[in-house]
Amino acid sequence: MRLVLATRNDHKVRELAGLLPGCVVEPLPAGVELPPEDGATFADNALAKARAAAAATGRAAIADDSGICAAALGGEPGVRSARWAGERATDAENLAKLLAEAPAGSPLAYVCALAYVDPAGGREHVVEGRCEGTRASAPRGSGGFGYDPAFVPDEDRSGRTMAELAPGEKDAISHRGRAARELSAWLAGS
Ligand code: IMP
Repeated sequence: MRLVLATRNDHKVRELAGLLPGCVVEPLPAGVELPPEDGATFADNALAKARAAAAATGRAAIADDSGICAAALGGEPGVRSARWAGERATDAENLAKLLAEAPAGSPLAYVCALAYVDPAGGREHVVEGRCEGTRASAPRGSGGFGYDPAFVPDEDRSGRTMAELAPGEKDAISHRGRAARELSAWLAGS
């Protein structure tokens, strides 16, 4: 099965390409406009992006919308994770804001909504994956992207941050890995 991936984020392309066995994940063709991520939920944003890619290409498309929720900040930044420190914020600026505002050891959660839209069959499906963790005492590691140096996943007992895990270790427990495995199972059964 060939799927257009509605994102311009190379990290997501790399992670998702390896997470959907049996699917060939193709990049979004140049020139296809994605809608602004102004929905109230991760699912709303993922669905809007997948619909836009499917409409523009006429092919089955998937889109991920993801972010980090800090309990100490009432769930912020949530759907605003990519632009939290400013409209054109870099990953480093967003990470610095999290380190400044969420206390060390406080609970964090990564959330990923993954939407599938097939324009031919008129089918849509959205799944969601979560990964619970805590804010690291200091940023560590150079793998992954975004907030990974600050995120210590509960499920990995070693105390390493997401940015210190090997790619396969991150995939096994991450919000994106969970969502992708659920979508993969749904695609295989439908
Ligand atoms: P969006 O899905 O394009 O709105 O971007 C989500 C933002 O959430 C990214 O820019 C990152 O800052 C953050 N994010 C999502 N998934 C991850 C992850 O796996 N690791 C680190 N940061 C992430």
